[in-house]
Amino acid sequence: MISTTEATRIIAENAVIFQKKKMSLLLSSGNLLSENIYADRDFPPFDRVTMDGIAIKASSWTKGVRNFVIERLQPAGSTRTKLEDDDNAIEIMTGAILPENTDAVIQYEEIEIMEKEGNGIASIQSSTVVPYQNVHHKGEDRKAGDLLIPEGTVIAAPEIGVMASVGMWEVLVYDFPRVAIISTGDELVEVNQVPEAHQIRKSNVYSIQSELTGLGIASETFHLPDSKDALFQSLQSIMNEYPVLILSGGVSKGKLDYVPGVLEALGIKKFFHGVKQRPGKPFWFGRSGDNTIFALPGNPVSTFMCFQRYVKMWFEKCLSISPKRFYAGLTKDVLFKPELTYFLQVKIHVTPHGKIEATPVTGHGSGDLANMLLADGFLELPPGQLQFRAGDSFPLHLFRSGWSLQDAENNRTE
Ligand code: AMP
Ligand code: MG
Repeated sequence: MISTTEATRIIAENAVIFQKKKMSLLLSSGNLLSENIYADRDFPPFDRVTMDGIAIKASSWTKGVRNFVIERLQPAGSTRTKLEDDDNAIEIMTGAILPENTDAVIQYEEIEIMEKEGNGIASIQSSTVVPYQNVHHKGEDRKAGDLLIPEGTVIAAPEIGVMASVGMWEVLVYDFPRVAIISTGDELVEVNQVPEAHQIRKSNVYSIQSELTGLGIASETFHLPDSKDALFQSLQSIMNEYPVLILSGGVSKGKLDYVPGVLEALGIKKFFHGVKQRPGKPFWFGRSGDNTIFALPGNPVSTFMCFQRYVKMWFEKCLSISPKRFYAGLTKDVLFKPELTYFLQVKIHVTPHGKIEATPVTGHGSGDLANMLLADGFLELPPGQLQFRAGDSFPLHLFRSGWSLQDAENNRTE
């Protein structure tokens, strides 16, 4: 058996490089960007008027001019015109380029427009006029050539908007390898079946699949019986089509736990079988040619923990992503005797000072999948220590985000 540190190192060393593919901008949401996106022009690309009203020279107002003859109208989308007389104005609309020889925009709310001898005259009511008021300066947000979105960003609506602005009709995204999630076990039945007294519905494949979907990775699920021959035949054909295999169950010491033996018989190089951790001790990892194989123990908490801690990390390494690291402080003393790394299920809370606190929610062991409903993540408690004291901080592997973490954010501002 190896330590969690060893297991981490081995898995990281076995990261592979994923292919990239072009994708239509409109279909790219949820994908992982595989190129840097730069500004093709300044943001905004010209001095952009931000109010409907008139454009004037601020110095004319300062020297006392209050009534401005309107020379013309310059709407958004028309070419830049020039103010001929310094004491005149150009009627202007939001989104227009600031006319030449003007430097301030007064909104309609602060002017009155009168007609005099066929000319519009704008009388300014404001108490102050300063240069560049109501003007969004060229290049104020970003300069041409600036890095806007780094490679490795998950594409969401803000990214789509910015990429549209810089003319990316097609974007380069990671082309993830095909992933097969395979459950094993004769006691398992499909979700839409009514189990007999000795059966249970399978759940691991679906929780893993939902995690992968959240990462933008498509996968397919399979189920195999506890039979050496059936495992051998099916895994052989699945391996031909799917570079990444995530198995659950059949890796422990039971008489029908055939998975490690069959994987080796299929010529897959075993890197380890057994990690000094709880849960997830019988975790198996191997590779062969283009195939990377994670065989996770079947107990739902073990499967989920190993996925969170190791499989996700492998994907991150393959994508050269450095995930954010979180630490949380225990709110209670925890005793744990075995010489194992203990992945403690915890509920998190953020204090008004922004400190993340973790309260243990232990449950009834690795088969208690309902207990994970109460937890937000795993706190990684190192081996070689008997007592973990309240107030001490440890690495936190969060498995909730989005809506559920909003709670934590709300607590922060309480
Ligand atoms: P195993 O690792 O095959 O010895 O399985 C350990 C425990 O996890 C057994 O109680 C199995 O019934 C359960 N188990 C295995 N696979 C799944 C699955 N896909 N969904 C839910 N429970 C499972
Ligand atoms: Mg089994």
